[in-house]
Amino acid sequence: MPEALDARQLRPLARSLDPLEGESLSGYLLRLAHRLGVDPLSLYVRTGLTGARPEGTKITRVSTALAFSLDDVSFDAFSRTTRLSHVEVTRLLVAPLGVRYGPLSTEYSNSQADERSRFVSPWVLSDRTQYCPECLAGDRSSQIEQTHGGAWQRIWRLSAVFACLRHGRFLRQNCPNCGEQVQGETKNLIARPRDSELHPVQCRASAPVETLRAARPACGADLARSDQPRDLLPSAKRSREAVFSTQARLLALLAPDGPDHVSSVGWLIPTAQYFNDLRTVATLIFMTWPEARPHAATRTLAKILDHEAEQRHRAFENVRDTPGAYRRKVSIYVAPPENPAVTAAVLEMADRFLSAPDEREAARFLEPLAVEATYIHRKVGYALRTKPGTSFPLQVALMAHRRGESSTATAEEIITKHGGFRRAPSVCA
Ligand SMILES: [Zn+2]
Ligand SMILES: [Zn+2]
Repeated sequence: MPEALDARQLRPLARSLDPLEGESLSGYLLRLAHRLGVDPLSLYVRTGLTGARPEGTKITRVSTALAFSLDDVSFDAFSRTTRLSHVEVTRLLVAPLGVRYGPLSTEYSNSQADERSRFVSPWVLSDRTQYCPECLAGDRSSQIEQTHGGAWQRIWRLSAVFACLRHGRFLRQNCPNCGEQVQGETKNLIARPRDSELHPVQCRASAPVETLRAARPACGADLARSDQPRDLLPSAKRSREAVFSTQARLLALLAPDGPDHVSSVGWLIPTAQYFNDLRTVATLIFMTWPEARPHAATRTLAKILDHEAEQRHRAFENVRDTPGAYRRKVSIYVAPPENPAVTAAVLEMADRFLSAPDEREAARFLEPLAVEATYIHRKVGYALRTKPGTSFPLQVALMAHRRGESSTATAEEIITKHGGFRRAPSVCA
């Protein structure tokens, strides 16, 4: 069991590795450990990622918080030992994506949220990652990728990312062999952290065993095999096109050179906040389903949402009359889907509602959901449509703002009066 070393005294490693484009910290650690022929836990300690812990502290797992951000001591030690620049280290982390992705943003999340609760924010995957088998297979022309595998991308930890457009396929969440999470586990960024035998693109879940005493072997499935089920929407060309075009739009918003502002219900709002709007609308679609069913882009996508909503409604009915349990009730509808095809279906619809040219048109889709949500459960419905971090124009479209002194004011007057909002250009023109 490795012990913490003084992170400030660590010397550079004899050999390091250049990060790949878009790579995550966990993926980088796996590839570097593989290159050096050591286990990930030893590398975690050797590169100072344990931070300023007293010497002699036993280290048994890799903190999941590392995927998001590093404290100053860890950051400096990791940069020095791996010989990566500060910019390169920052690019491995998920927290910096918060400038474009609201569920990670400090500015647009609940003001009471602390650093830790951000890591467990719904719509950010804190202890698991999705993956694209073909991305993991790596670039055939690169010797280093053929040896250590391709990049585990950091954006795969964002729930709004459900497909790899480079390879035209949905991401996978679980191992095709054992059905478990493929890389991490609860409270452990890298499962089996002392296992130095596994390749970076092998499944790190442990196989179940008959007796407690037996050593649990790793699943070890090759996640880069391209013969895994490719298509979650077989023979549904129109559905695929619809959701892949939504994904292209969302990825463009997340790109480092993406727009700072985007139209939500016809008004320009910060890009990061748009993802909070999407999440809120997706949540309302689930809670009030089949209210929005007539607006589904295709019958296939409607059926996918039928199935998902049915499960959520059942879970909600089980706790509806339980006194308290308020957070649990809310989370049943807020939790991101586990199946990327469901995420695709609900985000395609939410994105389309929010792309309405103005708040009146948007209200045509959104007001019935807001009304129905409150009718289903007043307190939960109200909490969902007033979710902190959503934009003011969306709140007006959901009738969730406080109309205040003038109940006869139009939505446009209210949004304008609130200040700072401009019409999206297509509407101004
Ligand atoms: Zn890919
Ligand atoms: Zn597996």
